Amino acid sequence: MPRFQPCMTRVSGCLGLVTTVWSLLAAGAAPGPNPPIQLDVDATDAARKVLHARLQIPAQPGKLTLLYPKWLPGDHSPTGPITDLVGLKMSAAGKTVEWRRDAEDMYALVVELPAGASSLEVTLDYLSQPGADGSASGASATAQLADISWNDVALYPKGAKASELQYATTLRLPEGWQFGTALVPASQASGVIHFEPVSLETLVDSPVVAGAYSRTVDLTPGGQPPHFLHIVADSAAALEMKPEDGRHLSHLVAETGALFGARHYRAYHFLLTLSDHVAHFGLEHHESSDNRQGEKYLIDADALKLKASLLPHEMVHSWNGKYRRPAGLATPDFEQPMRGELLWVYEGLTDYLGEVLTARCGLWQAEDFRQRLALDAARLDRQPGRTWRPLVDTTVAAQLLYDARKEGSSWRRGVDFYQEGALIWLEADVLIRQLSQGRRSLDDFCRKFYGGPSGPPRVVPYTLDDVVAALNEVAPHDWRQFFQTRVYDIDPRAPLGGIEGAGWRLVYSNTVPDMLKSAESALKFTDLRFSLGLTIKEDGAVQDVIPGSPADQAGVGAAMKLVAVNGRRWTADLLRTAVKAARTNAAPIELLVENEDYFKSCKVDYHEGEKYPRLERASTKPDLLKDILKARTPAP
Ligand SMILES: [Zn+2]
Repeated sequence: MPRFQPCMTRVSGCLGLVTTVWSLLAAGAAPGPNPPIQLDVDATDAARKVLHARLQIPAQPGKLTLLYPKWLPGDHSPTGPITDLVGLKMSAAGKTVEWRRDAEDMYALVVELPAGASSLEVTLDYLSQPGADGSASGASATAQLADISWNDVALYPKGAKASELQYATTLRLPEGWQFGTALVPASQASGVIHFEPVSLETLVDSPVVAGAYSRTVDLTPGGQPPHFLHIVADSAAALEMKPEDGRHLSHLVAETGALFGARHYRAYHFLLTLSDHVAHFGLEHHESSDNRQGEKYLIDADALKLKASLLPHEMVHSWNGKYRRPAGLATPDFEQPMRGELLWVYEGLTDYLGEVLTARCGLWQAEDFRQRLALDAARLDRQPGRTWRPLVDTTVAAQLLYDARKEGSSWRRGVDFYQEGALIWLEADVLIRQLSQGRRSLDDFCRKFYGGPSGPPRVVPYTLDDVVAALNEVAPHDWRQFFQTRVYDIDPRAPLGGIEGAGWRLVYSNTVPDMLKSAESALKFTDLRFSLGLTIKEDGAVQDVIPGSPADQAGVGAAMKLVAVNGRRWTADLLRTAVKAARTNAAPIELLVENEDYFKSCKVDYHEGEKYPRLERASTKPDLLKDILKARTPAP
């Protein structure tokens, strides 16, 4: 009997099974002592990109300040979509109550409840953004599906901790739509789902995906805790995941168990939305993850390979980010600013472990891992922004850099704590193996730091001191200085010690790696940053020019538009051919660029041919990457 049992394809019937599991799990989750806030959401207009909501908030007569969630966990930014909160009306004791917005805090609404009132009723609409831009607060509904983030429609009284406020929620879906969520349905009648009451913290941490085309896969039949994959898509065809990919995901679950040695959830739900009309990202939650990709993600092998680490990355966050969380990100409500300084652990280590697990579970081959590693390392190593900005500033300024333009990115730097964090944790992994003569690895740190007893979600904050202390228990070393030089100090070169210590070298050749071909095709750009020093969008717009590169020296600038190469209208192929030909030709490559209303010919004096990064074996050293990527559990 294969472990991969598709159990629902645009169906009814499976929900009953899932409900049974959920109901059992809910038995221990008693609501807190305060009367719950009632939140009723009507998603029957989701296809028109509107959610309707009604809140009943227990309250006393007098002044009350309501807050709309601003700092969203996982977004690490004040991105609560307050602009799209509309149609706000309030009443109490049968009378309309006027509200006003705080003049300084746009997320605070102040009301005065009349004498005799025991609760405040609020009705509101949330307008879901069209298009496919943005992150968690971006596009979230199409004609066939909706991703419902409760923070989009929730208000809460100021002063209370999110973990102490209880919410009883209901959700009405368009007829025939099925749903997936980590929330536990208590009952379902007349098209309305009633969920077990949960804290505001859990509610915001438990989005719902719903759609006309949906499928739920039980990844660990009969296992405890259970693991589900809930897919909603814009077509039935998009749900047809290959059986081997289902087995890889089951293997991923087993590998996370082997890595961490404990699970801090009652059940885990991968929520996967497949549409070309929603924002594409992954957002971590404690008992689920909200993963959104293009419609063909599961049926186009290139698309899956390019983003194969998405689900592993988001699942790792259940341990690293949700259970263990940097103290500066463990805020009591959604109003307190988050401090991102340890994002190089939260995201950097998750990026490393996510990609390692992608290879361990079979979604990637070792060569895929190495290609991605080479591309990331080379990009970071050729980034002049590192001469003025230390990695730690990309974490502190994450709330700015997430939305930074592509233009100028190599001089500005971006959210480099993901990939550069991964390089640093690879180096830590290699160092532990070397210090312990191969007896220990970063896996031991993971079990020590993220393991402990299994059980329902809880948050255990940590500081850098805690990370250093746990590493010292695994392999004594001056870890504080190790991180000081790599995270806090300026270094014009990327940390490549992990690659080299693992028995590999970062080199450049004229072959475009498959991983880059897929990225260029999916993201519609041409990447010549390692040769000419520029990246170009599909329409010829210059995305970035690396300061000091041949293109920069020839006068090309970001936001100019490439028109012609050596006198002929530009195409990506023509440009690559010209770079190749210039190897044996003394003449410069002539780029005709358009700069607003003016044209200019830029002569690029470059003759070293095409250059793309790859990893090459350093045969004098053992291949530690091979050991790092080896599965710990048998493939299902
Ligand atoms: Zn992440």
